[in-house]
Order: sequence, then structure tokens, then C-alpha cells
Amino acid sequence: MKVNYICSRCHRRFAVDTLAYRCQCGGAFELEKTPPKLAIGRLRSRVNSIWRYREALPIIKDENIVTLGEGMTPIIKARIFDKEVLLKLDYLFPTGSFKDRGASVLVSKIKELGIKTVIDDSSGNAGAAIAAYCARAGITCEIYCPESASGGKLIQISLYGAKLNKIPGSRQDTAKVVQEKAKEVFYASHRANPFFMEGVKTVFYEICEQLDWKVPDSIIMPVGSGSTMLGIALAGSELKDMGVINNLPKLVGVQTEAFPPIYEAFVKGETKVTPLAQGRHTYAEGLANPNPIHGEQILKVLRETDGEVIKVSEEEIAEGINILAQKGIYVEPTSAVVVGALKKSLKVEEGKTNVVILTGSGLKATDKMLEIFGSSPSLTNS
Ligand SMILES: [Zn+2]
Repeated sequence: MKVNYICSRCHRRFAVDTLAYRCQCGGAFELEKTPPKLAIGRLRSRVNSIWRYREALPIIKDENIVTLGEGMTPIIKARIFDKEVLLKLDYLFPTGSFKDRGASVLVSKIKELGIKTVIDDSSGNAGAAIAAYCARAGITCEIYCPESASGGKLIQISLYGAKLNKIPGSRQDTAKVVQEKAKEVFYASHRANPFFMEGVKTVFYEICEQLDWKVPDSIIMPVGSGSTMLGIALAGSELKDMGVINNLPKLVGVQTEAFPPIYEAFVKGETKVTPLAQGRHTYAEGLANPNPIHGEQILKVLRETDGEVIKVSEEEIAEGINILAQKGIYVEPTSAVVVGALKKSLKVEEGKTNVVILTGSGLKATDKMLEIFGSSPSLTNS
């Protein structure tokens, strides 16, 4: 399986061990590879992790696979705001967030390339995932986080043995520091490296398999850097090529009022995202992205799937946490944004199959939960 990077804008090609994390023209890297072929009929007897879709994951040798048994997260039914939905519990992972999908594939590729030291920047979850899989693989790893990131995520990263650098200022300030370091060290960027998205795409393989290879009518998810949405689009096009499915679901992205760059571009009908000068404080730290590197691709996917973008307030995030918790589901603020979107979305119709992706465990954000709710949470009923 020969693979290389190709610039999504100017189509220049790069080797996958390049230190560059995007093209000189500013375009994001995509992976150029032979379309995968997967024998759906043979899946039944396979390992219950993302690696059951082995032919679709671009790692050459099995011996390079770095896994902690991630994936095949449950789907359960729930009724929220009088709409029947299927909740994909995509926070039930070794490190407590869906980022393990991407980290497993990206760190496997890093091992395959013989790279011994990597860096990444993160609001917390991706950093924890990269640190865990690097620990598993024996790869040295340094993670840069905003000093405001949840304490639970920061201690988790340190305990995995990664060197943790806390950077003052915004999430974007952290990104600037790591981009400078990336001139010398391999940047295992969960936002920019296409191998991360190759792992994230498995969420859509799983959803389709769990629904007996029927495509749901809509999928609702948070959008920060857009890896889940683009991963679904990628998996969708692969499954279409294989003749397993015929169409993609309507993709509904959720952003916050504090950081709405995709929302703004989408409602104005634009094809490019204008970076935000500055975002505001938000409890949804995973969505504090003023300038998503794949902005153009996200807008394209939203239009192609007849999707939409919903913006929710901090109050709606708190309400979302409460509503899910009262159903026995404890997710972090970044994840709870989807509840507010269920109230507002025109694409989530009663009587249809609507899948809601829950991306991060509430246990990772105890300090944020205490900030939001104090010791006596106000109760909200849906
Ligand atoms: Zn380019």
C-alpha cells in the first residue's frame, strides 16, 4: 500500500515522513492512497476494535499496530427534546475520548516510519490520547497545552510519561509555540496529520455496521477542527466506492457562540472560513478553534450532505450536561453541545434515524463541572 500526502489546494505531493505539516501554499495535507477494499462478510469473527477494518487503515505491517483495544463503542436509544435519537457513546475509550481512534492509527504510522520523538498541541483530549499511545509504543512525546486546560487532562498526560508544557494565553498561542518547534521535531498533529483522520473515520464504519449497513438519516457532532465530520465523509466515500452504501447522512455540526468560525462562514454561504480575531471564554475547550485548518473541506462536506451548523450558548452547554446526566450519561462540556443542537436543528426529524456522537467523558473535566455547577447543580428537565 503506497501512500503519500497531497496538498488539498495546489495538489503538490509530499512523502509521509516530511517534517512539514501543511503545504507551503497553506493547503492542508490529504492522504493519496489506493481505495481500500473490505470484505464486510468477514467482519464477524474479527477483533472488536477499530482494527476490525484493517484493510481500510493504511498501516503496512501488522507488527507496527499500536492498540489499546479502542473502538466499537456502544449505541443506545434515548429521547431528548421529544425526539428519538441514537447516542453513540464515543467517550468509552482507553483515555476517555474518541481521540483514541486517531491516536491509534497515527502512532502506528509513526512507529512504522521509525520516528522516535514527537510533539503535539492539544486542549487536552488529543494530547492525552497521543501520550497514551506513545507510551504503549515506547515513543518519546512532548505535549503543549494551554495552561487553562482541564487539570484532569493535564495530569493524565503527565502520568503517561509525556513531557507536558503549559502555555499561557489562548489555545491559538499554544498552537503557535508548537508550530515553531515543529521545524525540528515530528509534529504528530491531530488537527493536520491525515493519518489521525484515518483513525477517526472508523466511527462511521462502526455506525453503519451497528445499523446493519444502513446509513442513518443524520449525524450530529461537535465541530472544532472538524476531524469527526471529515472522517465520516472519508469513510462514507470509501464505503460508497466499495458498493456497501449509496449515500451519506445529513451532517450536523455544532459550535459554540464563543468560537463559531464554521457557523459564520456556513450561514453566509461562503466557501472559505474567515479566522476569528479572538474567541471568548467557553467551557467547551475542545471547540476553542478560531481557524480550523480544514475549513474549506468542512464547508464543502456540509453542503454536499445537505447538512447544517448550529451554534449553542454556554447556558445551553450546561443544560446539555444536565439533561444527559439525568439519563445516566456523563459527558464533558465540549461533548454536551450536541443537546442544544437537537432543540434547534431542522435536519433532525422525528421518525428518522438520527445518530448523536458523544465525544468525551465528563470524568475528564471535573474542575470545569465544579466551575459550572458548584456543589448543587440546578436541575433541568427535557
Ligand atoms: Zn499546496
